[in-house]
Amino acid sequence: MNPSRLVLLGHPVSHSLSPTIQTAALRKAGIDLTYEAVDVEPYMFSDCFARMRDENVAGNVTIPHKTSAFSLCDSLTQRAEHVGAVNTFWVEDGGMVGDNTDVVGFDNAVQVLLGHVPYKENVVLLGAGGSAQAVAAAVADWPGSKLTIYNRSEKSARALAMRFPDNACVELTLPKALEGGTLIVNATPVGIFDDVHPVELGALPKGAAVLDLVYKRGETSWVRGARGRGHRACDGLAMLIEQAAAAFERWTGMKPDKDVMWEAAVGPA
Ligand code: NAP
Repeated sequence: MNPSRLVLLGHPVSHSLSPTIQTAALRKAGIDLTYEAVDVEPYMFSDCFARMRDENVAGNVTIPHKTSAFSLCDSLTQRAEHVGAVNTFWVEDGGMVGDNTDVVGFDNAVQVLLGHVPYKENVVLLGAGGSAQAVAAAVADWPGSKLTIYNRSEKSARALAMRFPDNACVELTLPKALEGGTLIVNATPVGIFDDVHPVELGALPKGAAVLDLVYKRGETSWVRGARGRGHRACDGLAMLIEQAAAAFERWTGMKPDKDVMWEAAVGPA
């Protein structure tokens, strides 16, 4: 497809490690492309996405544009259709193609966290936006697993649950949602810029694993605190690297060096 350049479209976007890890992988592979973060306010997204198509730009979409990108693409991969959100795009025959690599990123991160392929999990999902949609799509394929969605706005929680009626339900209070949870997933931006916890540490169900899609150098306060109380816990860095590697392959036809991506993300020891 030979894109003219690569971008990450989001708002806010300055916290993202994607430019660092993609640039490291591009340099390692000897590919002469740039990958830059572009802050796009929601009211500008549609115009911006059309310009990307005209200029043969490929890239990623992050908070809060994943569902808008889904509606604006000319065609979608099967995975993006299933999820209802787009995090990776490129131009083919003049049309914008949307894909979703968050599902494989989430799946791989959970397998590392749990130490096995997920099976009969009782997943509590905080949030109902673009990344929550990828989580719900992944959980729908886990044998015998249930998904309970808790979100600050009931409407988007219900809309998400309706897409996965066989295994998803909505709870309107957090304590009820947490009951019996075996894997608690934060898919809200809570904790990105401060140390606020999406769930009080003392309220986490006993023995539950914790996965925070938010990531930071040195992990999030929630993840560190949960681990300190004996929970298996990890932040969103593993998912970020895995979804980035899958996107890199889509754009370049080459597998990136994931070790180089990890080194770039974690920084010097
Ligand atoms: P999004 O589409 O904007 O959805 C955000 C969700 O969080 C919505 O359900 C929203 O609720 C809820 N929310 C927003 N602010 C909140 C607050 N202050 N308190 C409680 N709930 C709040 O965003 P997204 O793309 O899903 O991203 C969510 C987070 O996941 C971001 O931090 C992003 O960086 C992270 N993420 C990480 C990875 C990774 O690879 N590690 C991948 C994707 C996303 P309403 O419905 O009420 O608006």
